[in-house]
Amino acid sequence: MTVRMYAMTCGWITLPRGMFLAGDEGELTVPVPVYLIEHDKGRVVYDSGLSLAVQKDAVGYLGKRGSVFKVAYKPGEEVAARLAECQADAGKVDTLVLSHLHWDHAGGTAQIPNASIVVQGAEWDYAASLDDPFARGYKPDEFDCGHDVRRVDGEHDLFGDGSVVCLPTPGHTPGHQSLRVRLPGGEVVLAGDACYLCKTLDTFQAPVNSWDKDIQLASLRKLRAMRDAGARVFYGHDPEFWATIPHGPAPVA
Ligand SMILES: [Zn+2]
Repeated sequence: MTVRMYAMTCGWITLPRGMFLAGDEGELTVPVPVYLIEHDKGRVVYDSGLSLAVQKDAVGYLGKRGSVFKVAYKPGEEVAARLAECQADAGKVDTLVLSHLHWDHAGGTAQIPNASIVVQGAEWDYAASLDDPFARGYKPDEFDCGHDVRRVDGEHDLFGDGSVVCLPTPGHTPGHQSLRVRLPGGEVVLAGDACYLCKTLDTFQAPVNSWDKDIQLASLRKLRAMRDAGARVFYGHDPEFWATIPHGPAPVA
């Protein structure tokens, strides 16, 4: 059983460094990652990136958040186009695993129209409970748009063979999940926003915008233990790490 994985960049965001590393100054320009995983029994995408609405009118889309985030995101960088570069039809993706439901992770969901969404129930319920969702980073129209939604609670083995497994890593948000993928070259953990940067896992220097800092720290310790045991952690938004891996049609070994 061979699993192949492709890493794709669906835009870049410039933001204050201190959001990712509490106390730091200056800015950081970070990738918006999306992954395609091909298994004999199905095609999986992890996160859907940014909405097409951001390409059309970033200022209108971001509103007040435009004073914090600058987005660089051109036509051809959206998830459907990136999948096409990898010879994958977005309409034929079976499963969309969402790490969480923030705008830079679930914004491209409508472009993957026929997939079942796999999301932690706690994440879905939290997003649905908010009076002003975008104040917390959520745009419900972008992920709640008619898909079959498979709510899971805890670890979830997508194919029953241990090759692609959702791992709950809450803290950034209530129902955040990472994804463990067994590649020919060894085990990879797609951390999502449970761990933005390599430095976060080296130093445990926490970000400033977690839903629950202590819970996120526990998730970071779990990821750190997996890295110490030999897994390759793919950080959520680390530009230096991102430069070291293949993108687009070249699979990650
Ligand atoms: Zn993010």
